[in-house]
Amino acid sequence: MSQAALRVFVFALFLSFLSPCLAAGKPLPAYEPIHRIDTQKKVVALTFDDGPDAKYTPMILEVLHKNGVPATFFVLGSQVDKYPKVMQWIQKAGHEIGNHGYHHYDLHKLTEQEVYDEIKRTEKSILKTTGILAQYYRPPGGVLTHDVMNAVQSSGYDIIHWSIDPQDWSLARTASVIVRSVKTNVTSGDIILFHDGGLNQPQTVAALQDLITDLRSRGYKFVTVSQLLDEAK
Ligand SMILES: [Zn+2]
Repeated sequence: MSQAALRVFVFALFLSFLSPCLAAGKPLPAYEPIHRIDTQKKVVALTFDDGPDAKYTPMILEVLHKNGVPATFFVLGSQVDKYPKVMQWIQKAGHEIGNHGYHHYDLHKLTEQEVYDEIKRTEKSILKTTGILAQYYRPPGGVLTHDVMNAVQSSGYDIIHWSIDPQDWSLARTASVIVRSVKTNVTSGDIILFHDGGLNQPQTVAALQDLITDLRSRGYKFVTVSQLLDEAK
């Protein structure tokens, strides 16, 4: 074996020793996004993304208030800055607030640093408007690339995904389709995804009362994301 070939051989041997360490080390962050929890208790968490919206968030708050239902709002920093009063109404009504980034960008196109900046900019908006430091982050579109995971981990947030998606944002979805989609799929410990900002919100508002009535009649209790996670402990 020539010197050069020997060097390649030794290097390959070194790599084969090293790669399992690499696989066990850096690539995967130390935590997983939360989609739902396993529980026997009939609890579910309603979550609302893309607000605060000047028109539909107050309508949703009204339905929640009338029914005594707590929810979690994953707000956009840009919307918080635009509608700080609505943000404060969410908080004063006792709902939980999560971070959904600043602009609702496609995270596939952002660097780790840009995702981090989106989260921190929104953190500042929420903090300035409500005095609350949010704990949970939901990436726009549920995008979970390696860069997103790393950015979220360095920002100190937990990632909250969802387990039930009635696609209430889609203009093709009527209130009754949204209600049916949740009703037929829901189980204990689910996190349900809705939107208080966007284009199809009249249907979301219309679906909400029916859904609350139906799930309550089947013994479900509504909790915030924090309360849901407490059930898993
Ligand atoms: Zn969103």
